Amino acid sequence: MQISESKRLFAHAQQFIPGGVNSPVRAFRAVGGEPLFIKKAEGAYLMDEDGNQFIELINSWGPMILGHNHPMIKEAVLKAMEDGTSFGAPTAKEIEIAELIVSMVPSVEKVRMVNSGTEATMSAIRVARGYTGRDKFIKMEGNYHGHGDSFLISAGSGAMTMGNPDSPGVTKGTAKDTLLAPYNDLEAIETLVAANKGEIAALILEPVPGNMGLCLPKAGYLQGLRDICTREGIVLIFDEVMTGFRLAKGGAQELFGVIPDMTTLGKIIGGGMPVGAYGGKKEIMEFVSPSGPVYQAGTLSGNPIAMAAGLAMLNHLNTHPEEYARLNHIGELISDGIMAINKELGLNYTVNRLGSMYSMFFTDQEVYDFATAKESDTALFGKYFQAMLKRGVYLAPSQFESLFLSTALSDELIHKILQAHRESMIELM
Ligand code: PLP
Repeated sequence: MQISESKRLFAHAQQFIPGGVNSPVRAFRAVGGEPLFIKKAEGAYLMDEDGNQFIELINSWGPMILGHNHPMIKEAVLKAMEDGTSFGAPTAKEIEIAELIVSMVPSVEKVRMVNSGTEATMSAIRVARGYTGRDKFIKMEGNYHGHGDSFLISAGSGAMTMGNPDSPGVTKGTAKDTLLAPYNDLEAIETLVAANKGEIAALILEPVPGNMGLCLPKAGYLQGLRDICTREGIVLIFDEVMTGFRLAKGGAQELFGVIPDMTTLGKIIGGGMPVGAYGGKKEIMEFVSPSGPVYQAGTLSGNPIAMAAGLAMLNHLNTHPEEYARLNHIGELISDGIMAINKELGLNYTVNRLGSMYSMFFTDQEVYDFATAKESDTALFGKYFQAMLKRGVYLAPSQFESLFLSTALSDELIHKILQAHRESMIELM
């Protein structure tokens, strides 16, 4: 694999962009080597500036659930562009997408569009604080909710990958209102609630966390959180930026039948454009300005091009339930295939999967929270990443990420992925 152009671009980028990238994990620090500079993407493939082609298992970190450059999304974007790129004023499309989200996501009765997942979670916490008149909130160790100050405390994803789960620049004053608990541990929540009686505004979590590698909720865990929050008047927020419209059209809340008070959304909701959203019970969302006192705004929020892409994506998913069956089938073929090959080779690495999200951890132990995820041999993961890349399969460049599959993966491509996995594991042994 020739990567001279990517190397040249990376050296050049570092003169003008911190670390040469606009989002840290893209720099491949955790897996070694040079990041690839991508020229274009089509269906299941990424093409880099050197002309290499890769089967893609990240899909822009989740949004491209139908594969890249889908003709339907492209057409919607091009059509919207004919009318102008931004108005900073209400449009009919915003109502259409809001109505659609309300019909698809069980907990959402009203919704506000923003430009990223980070904005969605920051805003949801502010609204929960305004609504309850309380300051503190609970977050799970290793969950990632974007780069808002109060979330960069024991954060997963790129923050963990870069060795900064607690970022400098977050004041002690801010950090003291973020209470931490291990994921999948209801007792820890009871202890926090008892020690901070009447002071906790919200409990936010990824219902199925992808940001410490994929972990699954234990039976009864999500319902247990729901019961505690109801009892204590705490706003339960599901951060479904990854899982929304992916695990089911109504997200993890639909799949597990546990309905939070608020939900944050991103990624798929924009069809690949920069979009996020937060929504929830009418009574809570009425606190958002201008209907209520909690201020939150955005010059480009509800941008017409982004809304057109999001609408095309959500309308398609809403009317094609068979896409979820297909995604589940693809996920099953890949994860079962990986486990069968590992077994044949006498390896017993943990594979966590739900629908079209999965992670393989380089540990034999069960992985169900941040502590167990950190048991994975990340140096070995780095070698696996490079071995797969060399064979034309592009994975997330960190152990602390989930992979996101797309409907563009044909059976033939799945066969190639499994062949690359077999060869890579043999190379590593
Ligand atoms: N919440 C979750 C669960 C995420 O996975 C992410 C990003 O990966 C975010 C929030 C932040 O979204 P964004 O990167 O769009 O700001």
